[in-house]
Amino acid sequence: MAENKRDYYEVLGLDKNATDEDIKRAFRKLAKQYHPDVNKEEGAAEKFKEIGEAYSVLSDANKRRQYDQFGHAAFDGGAGGFEGFSGFGGFEDFDLGSIFDAMMGGAGGFGGFGGRSRGNRKTKGADKVVNMSLTFEESIYGCEKEFKVNIDDACPKCDGKGGTGEKTCSTCSGRGRVATQQRTMIGVIQTETVCPDCDGRGVTYTSKCSHCSGRGTINQDKTIKLRVPRGVEDGDTMRMSGKGSAGANGGPRGDIYIEFRVKEHELYQRDGRDIYITIPLTITEAVLGCKKEVPTVQGTIITEIPSGTQNGDKFKFRGKGIDDEKSGRKGDAYGIIEVIIPTKLDHTQKKLFKELANTKLDKDSAFAKYNKYTDD
Ligand SMILES: [Zn+2]
Ligand SMILES: [Zn+2]
Repeated sequence: MAENKRDYYEVLGLDKNATDEDIKRAFRKLAKQYHPDVNKEEGAAEKFKEIGEAYSVLSDANKRRQYDQFGHAAFDGGAGGFEGFSGFGGFEDFDLGSIFDAMMGGAGGFGGFGGRSRGNRKTKGADKVVNMSLTFEESIYGCEKEFKVNIDDACPKCDGKGGTGEKTCSTCSGRGRVATQQRTMIGVIQTETVCPDCDGRGVTYTSKCSHCSGRGTINQDKTIKLRVPRGVEDGDTMRMSGKGSAGANGGPRGDIYIEFRVKEHELYQRDGRDIYITIPLTITEAVLGCKKEVPTVQGTIITEIPSGTQNGDKFKFRGKGIDDEKSGRKGDAYGIIEVIIPTKLDHTQKKLFKELANTKLDKDSAFAKYNKYTDD
């Protein structure tokens, strides 16, 4: 293989005394001439590769010294010339386009390779997550909400184009990305970053839009209206499709995801579509029974509490839970009895309780079972 290779100096049209500057200049001239994007002649691609390979060796002081000493064998493990450096041989892996782009990047004024499509890919705009705090009532009855979100919008001055007089970005040759290279013992390591001059768009403008500095988008706080449906629950997420940041190069807009946080209510507790309500009863209400107003989330109802109602007894009110818009179904309400032992008795009440205490109030079976173990 090495035998068939042309001399690197010959490839670049130089002699062995060429300076770094000579090498750079020769490479630029030839690479421009043979770049596959402009030169469609047969063999141009091979020639371009050969030029790149020659340049990658001669532009590196270490490799050039080895090459001057051992010729192609310096980089050919099989030829036995220079072991230990065989790792340099992997020219096949070289992305010559990147070497070229990296090279030309600094030179400037070298555009028009028509590689635009690579840097101009349609990409979807960024999604946004918004946390929205709701009162319990807002979550149950639904509401209209406004919120602010920071998104990229298409620039109104240039219609998202970034400017007029579009031309391929000279810094990245339209790729939208630039390669940076690091030469190491095992070869060239390349990393790519978004082109700083065109922000990855691959194009620049003769007249850049001053409003958006050529980005085509404006970052701004936007006020968005949202109708929150009835019945949303703490932790629910809602997607506002296409309301996020504008896409790049005609790509679709991103989405906004709303995450609901619902504040707790002092009376109501939610379980799915059902609502639990604690109903406090006085001792006499529980003992004698009563009519009781129950404020459900679907309006106040009056319910009959029978005599002898116990602490913790549960009453069901069908269809008085959450009217869930999403599922179209209605939950139930449950009233849980809490008998309140009075702590603030006036003189008369105290007297009545004392009279009551002298009567036999422990006839219920719970007392009999308990007293079995306390009686002598
Ligand atoms: Zn660029
Ligand atoms: Zn603009």
